[in-house]
Amino acid sequence: MVINLFDTLFGFLNWPEKKLRIKILILEGSEDRAVLSPSELDVALGYAKVSLKKNFNVKLLPAKKGQLVELLKVIPPRDVLYTKGGYDALKEEFKVAGNFFASHLSGSFYPVTVFVVIDIVGASGCSLGPLTDYITLDPDGARAVSTLVHELAHAGGLWHVKESANLLYRFKSRGNEVNWWQKNLFRGSRHVTYW
Ligand SMILES: [Zn+2]
Repeated sequence: MVINLFDTLFGFLNWPEKKLRIKILILEGSEDRAVLSPSELDVALGYAKVSLKKNFNVKLLPAKKGQLVELLKVIPPRDVLYTKGGYDALKEEFKVAGNFFASHLSGSFYPVTVFVVIDIVGASGCSLGPLTDYITLDPDGARAVSTLVHELAHAGGLWHVKESANLLYRFKSRGNEVNWWQKNLFRGSRHVTYW
């Protein structure tokens, strides 16, 4: 807590290295078929690793044991497979989808669980920010270069900015830059730890 406060004030110094643990769970749609093949995440994962290290001096690691990317062998409710973005997601959080996500979170040290669903209405990725321990991506978002790390940044407490070169620019044409206060906030997030 005290250490995270320190990073909230001085995180722009980027020192020493911190860690962000994630687990990506790909949901099954109809006919026992995963909505995405794990290798389709390779580009986004590679980009996220480089971006988190360069921008925040944060190392991306798998949560708990096992693979970073796994198929979730549970038939999810329809509201989970077709989830909603933005404010609708916040309302959804208190209903079926929110319960499902909460019951399939990975680990106990504040990792971020990434659920890959069939579709997110009006978006290709969604995070409710620091309120929750998960983000969602649909296949478009999962295959995109920067959507994964952009949503992870939301989970780490960052919000949209207007500069198109910034990682927190709303659209996929975004760049990979962050500024000093974004470094401070992200490194101070409870998801970003020293152990
Ligand atoms: Zn966003």
